[in-house]
Amino acid sequence: MPDAPLDKSQSYFPLAGGASDGWSNGQEATATCFCGAVQLKFPTRAPGLVFTFICNCTDCRKITASMFASNFTVLDTHLTHLRGRENLTSFSQSHTIASGNTMTNYFCSTCGTLMYRVSSGFPGTSVLRLGTVDDFHLHETKLKPRVEQFTENRVAWLHGAEGVKQVAKSRM
Ligand SMILES: [Zn+2]
Ligand SMILES: [Zn+2]
Repeated sequence: MPDAPLDKSQSYFPLAGGASDGWSNGQEATATCFCGAVQLKFPTRAPGLVFTFICNCTDCRKITASMFASNFTVLDTHLTHLRGRENLTSFSQSHTIASGNTMTNYFCSTCGTLMYRVSSGFPGTSVLRLGTVDDFHLHETKLKPRVEQFTENRVAWLHGAEGVKQVAKSRM
């Protein structure tokens, strides 16, 4: 029998990595690394949820090992490490950051998932990763990118995200 079509109109948690205990409610949701060791809880609405954006910059391409990064920023006062904080490894540098800020990246030491980045220029906020969010419905709704930045660095075989404001360099 063929599978029923995927219902994306409400919360859904497909098999995606080692953990299966992700959740969301109307106000908060979880983000989990690929192996499941690290899990965060974050707000899905303002003021704790600050911004959502795609970035095609060369730095984001390299650090994600992909062609762009899909990000959302959260106030640290509203971010909770549910487990695995001690399992995070950090790596900092400013060499490739256009603004000159130092970016510190926090990875799961076991599976390598980049969980968030922190910029020295924006203290008090963390840049989380859309792909780590366990409720895939949120990828298309509350966390849908509002801006796509560094479009001048976008690889030629991809087109811009639909209905998303395009910015050639950085919005900041
Ligand atoms: Zn992991
Ligand atoms: Zn970037």
